[in-house]
Amino acid sequence: MSLRRLPLLFVACIVLVLTLNLTGCAKERPAEHAANVYASQELAAAPPHGNLPDYSLSPADLAKAQHLSTVHETLHFGNEAWGILSLLLLLGFGAIAWMRNTAVKVSSNRWAQGYVFLLLYLIAGALLSLPVDLYAQHLSLKYGLSVQSWPSWFGDQAKAFALTWIIGGLLLMLLFWIIRKLPRTWWFAFWCVSIPIVLFGIFVAPYIEPIFFKYQPLEKTNPALVAQLEQVVERGHMNIPPERMFLMSASAKLTTLNADVEGFGASKRVVVWDTTIAKMTPDEIVFVFGHESGHYVLGHIGSTLVFTFAILFVTFYLGFFFVQWAIAKFGARWGVTSQNDWAALAVLLLAFSLFGILLEPIESTYSRMHEHAADVYGQEAVHGLVADPQAAAVGAFNVLGKTSFADPNPDPLYEFWTYSHPSIGRRAAFGKAYNPWIPGMEPKYFKK
Ligand SMILES: [Zn+2]
Repeated sequence: MSLRRLPLLFVACIVLVLTLNLTGCAKERPAEHAANVYASQELAAAPPHGNLPDYSLSPADLAKAQHLSTVHETLHFGNEAWGILSLLLLLGFGAIAWMRNTAVKVSSNRWAQGYVFLLLYLIAGALLSLPVDLYAQHLSLKYGLSVQSWPSWFGDQAKAFALTWIIGGLLLMLLFWIIRKLPRTWWFAFWCVSIPIVLFGIFVAPYIEPIFFKYQPLEKTNPALVAQLEQVVERGHMNIPPERMFLMSASAKLTTLNADVEGFGASKRVVVWDTTIAKMTPDEIVFVFGHESGHYVLGHIGSTLVFTFAILFVTFYLGFFFVQWAIAKFGARWGVTSQNDWAALAVLLLAFSLFGILLEPIESTYSRMHEHAADVYGQEAVHGLVADPQAAAVGAFNVLGKTSFADPNPDPLYEFWTYSHPSIGRRAAFGKAYNPWIPGMEPKYFKK
């Protein structure tokens, strides 16, 4: 088959993958449907950004949540717009061309050129985003969401910068080598090699995270909790041995709560933040673990990977055409000679930023779908292990929301476009109403 037909074939595959995923979600059982209706009605009846019957804040905290919500909305879209504008300015004022010239002057060695160019580019990017980053960290400190000292924060920024430079440099060298070898099909070749790279990245992520946070086996720090969590594991016929449960010391830097599933294959693990354990009741922690084990058992990492590769395919394909078009039209003005020019990286990143904004609601919707499924799974998994699964879910969401001043009733469009999880208020209302154990109802993932 010719390469020309490939895009059509893959777009068809993507539509198929999405349809299968979405229809899987649409198979709503009556209990789930009833709870979704209850949650939607509760949100519709509450004032915008106001308290809900199942998740409410004190007047002072509600004011903070509303302010944070406005700031986050502004920063989110402001940052995206600024990312594109700053790239256009760097290109338009010849800064990118200057970086290329400097890199080429430093050495005739391609590796030295690539790394110098990337270093200059990353420094410019860091400086341009520094004011917003500083403000965001200042706000987190002011609202008590972060307790990290400024030197430690700058230290983390430096570590992240160094990692991006070192790993990004390798990707840059690979990309430009492929572009030189396959000038017309590099987008497809790079997509192919991106698959093992992404898999490797997810596999090693649990080994990179300890650069920023301390990890310990949960069994060492909270043996009684592990014994309780093992009951959830047994109940779901899962295979999560205690050595795959970790405690992350988030409290050194953050006050917010979280738990997640990280890694892939042999590195796959459930991670619970120490802040979660400190602030939640045992039943609430068990529910949170039930949610995380839902991601683990329902294979969300695997299906997210398939989804990500579909998104990357579209992004690289469109990126290829954008680069050809932009260099033909603006290359002379920007000082970008061809797609082989180091400066073309900025054009490609401009394309990725533009498509990223357009693809954001698709990615958010996909993520929310998984999170909702994990909520359903979590609530079913803890049935019989906690006194009251509905109360445990509502309690957990209230603690989660209150510690981060989460907006009880956010703007629906903003939620649709950017939220990776359903809003805390929606999750709490759903949790309150979800009861598949009553007569006439059936659980979705467990037998009654
Ligand atoms: Zn989750």
